[in-house]
Amino acid sequence: MKVVLCWFRRDLRLHDHAALYHALRSGLPVVPVFVFDTHILRDLEDKADRRLQFIHDALIRMQQELQAAGSTLHVFHGTPEEAFQAWVSHYDIAAVYTNHDYEPYARQRDTAVAKQLGEQNIAFHTYKDQVIFDKGEVVKDNGEPYTVFTPYSRKWKSRLDGFQLKSYLVEKYKQHFHRQPPIPIPTLREIGFEPTERNFPPDDPEDALIRHYDQTRDFPAQQGTSRLSVHLRFGTVSIRQLAAKARQLNETFLNELIWREFYQMILWHFPHVVGESFKKEYDRIQWRNHEKEFERWCAGNTGYPIVDAGMRELKATGFMHNRVRMIAASFLTKHLLIDWRWGEAYFAKKLLDYDLASNNGGWQWAAGSGCDAAPYFRVFNPTLQTQRFDKDMAYIRKWVPEVDELTYPAPMVVHEVARKRALEVYGKALKK
Ligand SMILES: Cc1cc2nc3c(=O)[nH]c(=O)nc-3n(C[C@H](O)[C@H](O)[C@H](O)COP(=O)(O)OP(=O)(O)OC[C@H]3O[C@@H](n4cnc5c(N)ncnc54)[C@H](O)[C@@H]3O)c2cc1C
Repeated sequence: MKVVLCWFRRDLRLHDHAALYHALRSGLPVVPVFVFDTHILRDLEDKADRRLQFIHDALIRMQQELQAAGSTLHVFHGTPEEAFQAWVSHYDIAAVYTNHDYEPYARQRDTAVAKQLGEQNIAFHTYKDQVIFDKGEVVKDNGEPYTVFTPYSRKWKSRLDGFQLKSYLVEKYKQHFHRQPPIPIPTLREIGFEPTERNFPPDDPEDALIRHYDQTRDFPAQQGTSRLSVHLRFGTVSIRQLAAKARQLNETFLNELIWREFYQMILWHFPHVVGESFKKEYDRIQWRNHEKEFERWCAGNTGYPIVDAGMRELKATGFMHNRVRMIAASFLTKHLLIDWRWGEAYFAKKLLDYDLASNNGGWQWAAGSGCDAAPYFRVFNPTLQTQRFDKDMAYIRKWVPEVDELTYPAPMVVHEVARKRALEVYGKALKK
């Protein structure tokens, strides 16, 4: 019997899903598939990686739903090339449906898979799913990509109509899943990883939180942000449903979703940002790159409590509040003059919500090297930031309980001295 495959990647849900919707409407039975891609897994140093636990949990939930529909998820551990080789010999495949994935590795992978399938006359259909607008959909009137957020967001909003926010009604077509007995999903241990704790944020924050988001979002001691980043990263929520809610409830929250798309758009049009400064002259900066200082920053022992709290929260939970990400990133690049790429790589290892585009965008913003970045001479003062955003030190005390003890280290650099040094070093590089 001919079937079609729906290949899940960073879209781990069975509702409002573009590729799945189109696959189910193709008229052929749909086999849902997922690859634990060894090209990606082999680069993960930490074998107890929370992201693998998150993905595994999401697959189990999908599997339960699929079993209720008489079907099963087919999970493969290996490379995508090996997976498709195996599936092609197991099923008579007419086409593969999947959603666009924009990162450089994903683009290369998909080109290779499309070619591999094409050689056997199997079609490869891809759809926009994880963003409202992608690629060249929101560009300047002259067709060039935006590099400044505000005009981009204005155009983004002006292009938005009911159509882009419409859900794909997958539920209507559930009888079109291929019926077959369950195929077990490999355990984390079977793919070389360890289970981790599961303090993942819920995927359905209260409307009231979103409604008051603009007032609460900057205070790390509060539950004032949605904590949806990991769900957006792995597609366990639908961006269309979320953006529709944001449009109704809070414009500031909608703007944050647009920042996410802005950075994805930047990565698409300017792939050199992976590894290089968006503004090339910033690659002339003479970073100090002091390894011992980097280790103190990673461990949360800089003597600046707000930085240390953030770094410890990151290590302990895989999360850091956005305001604190900005302060910690600015501290590394400006106060310590350590290359933003070191910080970017450390966050990439630790963040549960790690996303190449947003992480790179955030780091280059903090370092001043990015598009629409903070001007380099604006150096965050961690003490003033604390007074504004963690006045009674509730967040700091949670993560740095010894902050008032003698055991807590003195600041590893004096703010004013470090600020002057940063201005000199940046100034020298950018003057040339
Ligand atoms: C140095 C640095 C690194 C970052 N790395 C990442 C990363 O790897 N992955 C990631 O998802 N976000 C990253 N961000 C952006 C932001 O910090 C997180 O998205 C946010 O803290 C996640 O918490 P939340 O879901 O409660 O966000 P909320 O404040 O509730 O925002 C809702 C959603 O909007 C998006 N969003 C919010 N702020 C930003 C932003 N500045 N840039 C892009 N998208 C945004 C996220 O998808 C987020 O889930 C980084 C920011 C900085 C300064």
